[in-house]
Amino acid sequence: MIKYPLNINKENFQEKSNNLDALYGLNKKVEFCSYCTFSNQKPDSAIEFKHNEDTKKNTLIIEGKKCASCRVQEQKNSLNWEEREHKLKKLCDKFRSRNGSYDCIVPGSGGKDSFAASYILKNKFKMNPITVTWAPNIYTPWGLKNFLSWIKSGYANNLFHANGLAMRILTRLALEKLLHPFQPFMMGQKQFIPRLAAKHYKIPLVFYGDTDAEVGTNESFDQPLRNKAIFSNYDNSNIFISGTQYDELIKDYDLSHQDLIPFIPLKTDEVVASELQIHYLGYYIKWHPQECFYLASEKGGFECSPERTCGTYTKSNSLDDKIDDLHFYTTYIKFGIGRATYDSAQEIRNGEITREEGISLVQKYDGEYPSRFLKEILEYLSLNKEFFPKSSLKFEENIIDQNYFNDLVDNFRSPHLWKFSNDKWQLRHTIF
Ligand SMILES: [Zn+2]
Repeated sequence: MIKYPLNINKENFQEKSNNLDALYGLNKKVEFCSYCTFSNQKPDSAIEFKHNEDTKKNTLIIEGKKCASCRVQEQKNSLNWEEREHKLKKLCDKFRSRNGSYDCIVPGSGGKDSFAASYILKNKFKMNPITVTWAPNIYTPWGLKNFLSWIKSGYANNLFHANGLAMRILTRLALEKLLHPFQPFMMGQKQFIPRLAAKHYKIPLVFYGDTDAEVGTNESFDQPLRNKAIFSNYDNSNIFISGTQYDELIKDYDLSHQDLIPFIPLKTDEVVASELQIHYLGYYIKWHPQECFYLASEKGGFECSPERTCGTYTKSNSLDDKIDDLHFYTTYIKFGIGRATYDSAQEIRNGEITREEGISLVQKYDGEYPSRFLKEILEYLSLNKEFFPKSSLKFEENIIDQNYFNDLVDNFRSPHLWKFSNDKWQLRHTIF
């Protein structure tokens, strides 16, 4: 039984306190990168199918006051890009089909990066991509419009929705256990697309746009392929989805094996047999998000959202899922890193804004409460008895309202990051 969130002990969050606990294995000493706005509390990309309540995080490494992504940016500025582009040309020459049949897969939502990846492969390298999309939980109107514009601009697309009721159960569990409501979406995206490529299309060549190394992880920028550990596994007997073991999901919730297949990694021998290779175009071509935006607007009918995205100052990044607002609010609670930090860190590195501008944007927008879609999202996360006869019984309170959500959030605050003073929650360490 999943209990109503506990009342937390505010004694642990006093202004002056010694030896404060750090949750999730986070570094007790908070340090900021001197070049962007990230701190050493930023989690590294994780093997999500092993992630449960006890998992300790690896975090972004700051060396010589510079984070791993800023060091990658330095490397990008001094690379021989002609040589790398030549490698891409050779790779495409090897796989290009002669009769127009699909020869590579471009995953994405129709945002600026996936549009740019498909456009460059098709027009510059004369490839025949099929685009594939793992559907958002709840489309924003502008996200759906951009997705359709992408297809209309000349691409075939395979859109996959996981069972809608299964997504709601998994998203609720991921919120309760990990305060990570976006985890089922991210897992589906990471696991289903390799499965579709290897088993259904039997096309071994997949291209993403920007590399993981550029967005706040410790991944190397010296190799073009996604780490296979992210999408394959030797032994699937101990898989976790939404922080819950596979066997428990089948036994206690309204879920079947079929519902869960899209979230389960391929077996290592299946990846080897399929010769699957997942490349980052950003390894071969100097990837620049602002140029992707211009390309997508000009050639693909991409439009910014009509309103500023909650928690940040941008209107063109990761727009398509209403649950995004909740996701970035939870990263702010757990790691002190909200959406304005993510956006500004990337724009500082790419020379769009200065670090000083980034810092004042973080001060203004980071951690903004996700009000705009909250009512709809909480309805999505409430598991009523009619549609969820087994799952609803697993929660002391199957319906989640705003008070429940706020109480749950407080349980995930780490005392080394948060203090409760003057009757409100405040971060102990900020960049401003
Ligand atoms: Zn940095």
